[in-house]
Amino acid sequence: MLQQTRVEAVIPYYNSFLGRFPDIESLAEAPEPDVLTAWSGLGYYSRARNLQRAAKQITSRGFPGTFEELKELAGIGPYTAAAVASIALGLPYAAVDGNVIRVVSRLLNDSGEISSPLTIRRLQTEAQRLLDPRRPGDFNQAMMELGATVCTPRSPKCPVCPVARMCAAKAGGTESQLPVKLKRNVTRDVTVNLALLTGRNENRGRVFLIRRAAEERRLAGFWELPAKESFPGWKGRVAGQVAHQIVNDRFRITVWKGAAPPSLPAGAWFALDEVAGIPLSTVARKALAFAWHHTARHVPN
Ligand code: SF4
Repeated sequence: MLQQTRVEAVIPYYNSFLGRFPDIESLAEAPEPDVLTAWSGLGYYSRARNLQRAAKQITSRGFPGTFEELKELAGIGPYTAAAVASIALGLPYAAVDGNVIRVVSRLLNDSGEISSPLTIRRLQTEAQRLLDPRRPGDFNQAMMELGATVCTPRSPKCPVCPVARMCAAKAGGTESQLPVKLKRNVTRDVTVNLALLTGRNENRGRVFLIRRAAEERRLAGFWELPAKESFPGWKGRVAGQVAHQIVNDRFRITVWKGAAPPSLPAGAWFALDEVAGIPLSTVARKALAFAWHHTARHVPN
């Protein structure tokens, strides 16, 4: 009932529906018009039909005991299956909806574009990793509540947030920039040349990064590799090429690696294990991962 509908609007329907169909059997056996009548006013009638279909499935095969069995019920997708599995059955599945995606992207300071399936999959994996397997139902409800009441889309209430101490976006001052969601448009190719500058002496093994200005429209405050064009005459060698898509922009990125020139713009040197603790643009993360060691393992998220 709560899909696409506010809690306050649902409560009277929920009570009268349960009054009319107090258990799974009475719902399964009811004529469909009776079910639709009890639902009328709530809209989205496919939910009522699915609910009754699910009641029939349960009366014939028993109540599901696993995540997979829950997903076989009519109208139940991965999110609802995970919510029921964790809350009703105590099974360790993260229930990931738009609110949770937002919270996780901020907790990890993930600058991935959230309509990209890759980003969603990565954030789902991270939500599953964060899940407390001893209390999965409480964990999921806490995440939902956090997203609905504290870590809201606009103006997240960081000063009163119970997980502020472990939030990378708050630490990096990027919470209001995340999650990144861009408008779809015609795809265009963008060629980018980045400089992966290696250091000498005390900066040996470090990489030079610059920070996007606070007034930038996108990813303000995020660190990234400088453009090769910033160093006229600098000689580097091609370390690799990576592709990255941000909604309508298809980036072809060539990473040039070489010793840093004597004169550098404002920026800072980072050891690779320090990179995990700073807000790093996804392009920079990909470019570093590929160009530095040809493997993502060395550049933590
Ligand atoms: S500290 Fe702020 S951005 Fe981070 S989870 Fe809490 S409310 Fe969200």
